[in-house]
Amino acid sequence: MVTSVMPTYGRIDIAFERGEGPYLYSTDGRRFLDFATGIATNSLGHAHPKLAKAIADQAAKLMHVSNLYRIPEQEALADKLVATSFADTVFFCNSGAEALEGSIKVARRYQFHVGQPHRTKVICCNHAFHGRTLGTLSATDKEAYREGFGPRVQGFTHVAFGNLNEMRDAAAADDAAAILVEPVQGEGGIFVAPPEYLQALREIADEFGLMLVFDEVQCGMGRTGKLWAHEWSGIVPDIMATAKGLGGGFPVGAVMASEKAASGMKPGLHGSTYGGNPLAMVAAKTVVDIVSEPSFLEHVVKTSESLRDQLKKLVAKHPGVIEEVRGSGFLMGLKCVVPAGDLQTALREKGLLTVGAGENVLRVLPPLTIEESHVSEAVGLIDAACAGLARHAA
Ligand SMILES: *Cc1c(COP(=O)(O)O)cnc(C)c1O
Repeated sequence: MVTSVMPTYGRIDIAFERGEGPYLYSTDGRRFLDFATGIATNSLGHAHPKLAKAIADQAAKLMHVSNLYRIPEQEALADKLVATSFADTVFFCNSGAEALEGSIKVARRYQFHVGQPHRTKVICCNHAFHGRTLGTLSATDKEAYREGFGPRVQGFTHVAFGNLNEMRDAAAADDAAAILVEPVQGEGGIFVAPPEYLQALREIADEFGLMLVFDEVQCGMGRTGKLWAHEWSGIVPDIMATAKGLGGGFPVGAVMASEKAASGMKPGLHGSTYGGNPLAMVAAKTVVDIVSEPSFLEHVVKTSESLRDQLKKLVAKHPGVIEEVRGSGFLMGLKCVVPAGDLQTALREKGLLTVGAGENVLRVLPPLTIEESHVSEAVGLIDAACAGLARHAA
């Protein structure tokens, strides 16, 4: 008999009742160090006092009014995002997939607006993950996610991530509208786009009149140690989708765009009933105010470098279990020699939560707020789990 919750997930048999900072406490009384953070989402850890208070205070005043009216909390967050990014204007939604859908619409509408309505094709990369809606599934590079869900949405093509010749050829096509790339690929297996690659994408987009769209749903909001991951490359996109870490656990997403990119948008062309409601806006504003502080981002760089250095030593110590540390900042991956799921289970049994990714990679996604003591604690647990698996394999 089917469960009352539709069985769309393979779930681990643990439930949590509360969290505090980087720790989660399960209903059966165990404590876990949470280096999964709800998939790169609880950027400030759990039950952050400022975030919890901002949400509680706002909930007691006003949660939702709809976009029929002005929403001052929305204007305040948009101002803040504009002030701290390339963007001139922001559309708010409730999830990553919606932020991608909105980004794709803005990009196509730009082409329509400048008299190129035949330009609709979005060039994506292999290993890409952009979401589970029908549109974003077609941008995602995973056939298994699409099987049985009817015809693919037209207007997407894929090239090899990092391959500029393939990208150039695709961009030269008459119908090309936009390039859509994750500056650090997450679900696909933690692949960091080299700065030169992103710089070349900017040039290609400019040469052929395409919109450059970045998906920073996972790699944005401070996770790499810059507020936006593309800042490491020195170039800017025309449009960017963000979500996950933006609300620190509260569901919220955003489409950020330059004035030029958004020039085709006007009232009535896009919308979301919940999008940008006062509760979500206050939550996200609290997170952005904290994460965008230079000292906060410096802390992310420093602590993540320490974790990376220590994980590299574990790779050298346990070559039969893990073979590489990948990623940028706290968007890290351990490329496994043993099945990544085995390491994930061994770590969980020792009290450390992580997340799987493609290509037999285990994602290590701590809250951005962790201290050196949490790094040491995690490294100790990973060392012990690897030693256990190595013994088992021998
Ligand atoms: C998670 C993710 C999405 C989809 O976000 P949802 O909130 O699950 O819809 C899109 N792009 C990237 C890069 C992601 O990591």
